[in-house]
Amino acid sequence: MTSRALVLAELRGGSVPPGNLGAIAAASSCVDEVDVLVVCKEGDVLDHALLGLLGGQGARTVHLAHLAPALAAVCTDVLDLLVCELNPDIVILESSSLASDAAAALAARRSAGVNWDLVGLEQDGNGSWIGTRLALQDSLVVRVGWTTQLAVAVLRPGSFEPRQRMSQPRLVRAPQPEERVHCAGRVVSSGAGEGESSGLESADIVVAGGRGVTTLQDFSLLQELANVLGGALGVSMPVVDKGWFPHSYQVGQTGRTVRPRLYIACGISGAIQHRVGMGRSGTIVVINTDPQAPLFGVCDFGIVGDLAQVIPRLTEALQHRI
Ligand SMILES: Cc1cc2nc3c(=O)[nH]c(=O)nc-3n(C[C@H](O)[C@H](O)[C@H](O)COP(=O)(O)OP(=O)(O)OC[C@H]3O[C@@H](n4cnc5c(N)ncnc54)[C@H](O)[C@@H]3O)c2cc1C
Repeated sequence: MTSRALVLAELRGGSVPPGNLGAIAAASSCVDEVDVLVVCKEGDVLDHALLGLLGGQGARTVHLAHLAPALAAVCTDVLDLLVCELNPDIVILESSSLASDAAAALAARRSAGVNWDLVGLEQDGNGSWIGTRLALQDSLVVRVGWTTQLAVAVLRPGSFEPRQRMSQPRLVRAPQPEERVHCAGRVVSSGAGEGESSGLESADIVVAGGRGVTTLQDFSLLQELANVLGGALGVSMPVVDKGWFPHSYQVGQTGRTVRPRLYIACGISGAIQHRVGMGRSGTIVVINTDPQAPLFGVCDFGIVGDLAQVIPRLTEALQHRI
């Protein structure tokens, strides 16, 4: 029997988040048929290159839906219609404010089981879905399953790697929901709050600072290094707690999950709640005065030293090389 997955992808600012692409890739490594519902605002266009990228992840058919209004309730309606039409075994969504709301509403409507915050997804020998999630402050790995016919899986952002492949899928219009009372809402405005956009998730290089960066002036050293490398700035939780940076800059369990090519951690000890947000970065460099700091245990290069002395020298050396 053909196994089938329906994956939600959100078109935002002309692109689909890498984690959404990773979700499609993860689905296609488990099932025979992957359908992707791409939701976007009225007037947005899905270009040929982006379509190729979706196909490259394993999408066989892409269903395009312009949400009007762009609300989770409308997204749920479209998902629901597609579930009726395609009869998938599983619906997979990467967590976001829209996707999480839609997942919960769809699961309630279809009496489907829903598992949250998954960092792994596979099928066992009997074709049953098994999800992996982290528990007890991410210190334990737990395997979870579904007992319902339809499974709804909500993935932790950035947990699945996209493929670097292109292939053209079939593009069709998604079914249009009938106008319902709950769709009477309208979006007045949307976007990141002032100072909220950190660009962390899409950054190829991240320079992150923790409690060891004791003054805002020292953060300008990190910003300078990030600028020279063309990277973004990230922080650990205590820095957000101090009110120095908005939450969108926080890396870790309750912040962003990042997977840049290069992650430079300055004055960060390496608590598990921080590591789960950056542990899958390409090359990890740690600058810390304490040689026993746990982050040294997972790094590729470590510098034992005071960041206020090390960073300016690093920045200067890089300025001459780049
Ligand atoms: C439910 C829960 C969720 C959490 N979520 C997150 C999360 O999303 N992200 C997160 O980051 N944390 C999170 N935390 C907090 C986490 O447990 C740690 O407390 C936090 O990560 C520690 O941050 P830090 O490494 O910056 O600070 P510290 O642990 O205090 O480490 C500071 C480091 O700086 C070094 N240092 C000091 N001075 C210098 C210097 N001059 N030069 C170089 N190094 C220096 C020290 O040696 C030390 O290793 C969470 C905690 C809980 C309970």
